[in-house]
Amino acid sequence: MMPRMSIATRLDAWLPTPLLKGSALLHLGAVASLARPQLWPWALGAVLADHLLLTACGLWPRSRVLGPNWTHLPAAAAARGAIAITIDDGPDPEVTPRVLALLAQSASSATFFCIGERVARYAELAREIVHQGHRIENHSQHHRHHFSVLGPRSLAREIAAAQETIERVTGTTPRFFRAPAGLRSPFLQPILTRLDLKLASWTRRGFDTVNHDAAAVSSRLRRGLAAGDILLLHDGHAARTAAGAPVIVEVLPALLAVCSSAGLKPVTLHSAL
Ligand SMILES: [Zn+2]
Repeated sequence: MMPRMSIATRLDAWLPTPLLKGSALLHLGAVASLARPQLWPWALGAVLADHLLLTACGLWPRSRVLGPNWTHLPAAAAARGAIAITIDDGPDPEVTPRVLALLAQSASSATFFCIGERVARYAELAREIVHQGHRIENHSQHHRHHFSVLGPRSLAREIAAAQETIERVTGTTPRFFRAPAGLRSPFLQPILTRLDLKLASWTRRGFDTVNHDAAAVSSRLRRGLAAGDILLLHDGHAARTAAGAPVIVEVLPALLAVCSSAGLKPVTLHSAL
């Protein structure tokens, strides 16, 4: 759990984006218009449009209009030739050990955005991920499909529970958060600030939970591959090829080889902080 002092301090550090400030002003304006009934249709229309806009921004995983969002590594890490392979929804008792073996063969590090309840269930495997030099970051406790429409208290509980689970099981503290399916609401950023977490999305994703064609996933990830890229793959919920292999296991060897021949070094997001 976070110490209380630091929670108060970090709340002060949360700065709303221009979109959220504008949204707050618009709501104040709507309240002020209550005294003038002829303005009510306009005020109602403006508030509805604002809510639609905020919802649309939350459905756009790589947007920054709701708060800071890592879509690339910082420039200093990119200048060193670093790229980040991020692997979501595990740990998975069948897929994750195979992924770890492939990463070890190429001496590469990766970031695992794990689901808290899976970390608790596969605790030994979670510790093995960290033991092998990778990082486990926060992907919520239950990976709820309606995560982006949770109220502020449920949202905070989902994230804090995963934070506590990962700390207890692995002894490491996540510094990054990725929303389930990348979807979020305006309530998210103040909670992340309070828990000292940075939101991370991606530069490109392979859609490897739904696409069974490893070649298509691989070429999507490698298109325009450059230093500073953050790539997204999945060890949990991994789609299978026609032959029954998890797509990530088919994709990783060639991806790691391409990185190596291009002089790109797969590192953890944490190392780029
Ligand atoms: Zn996920």
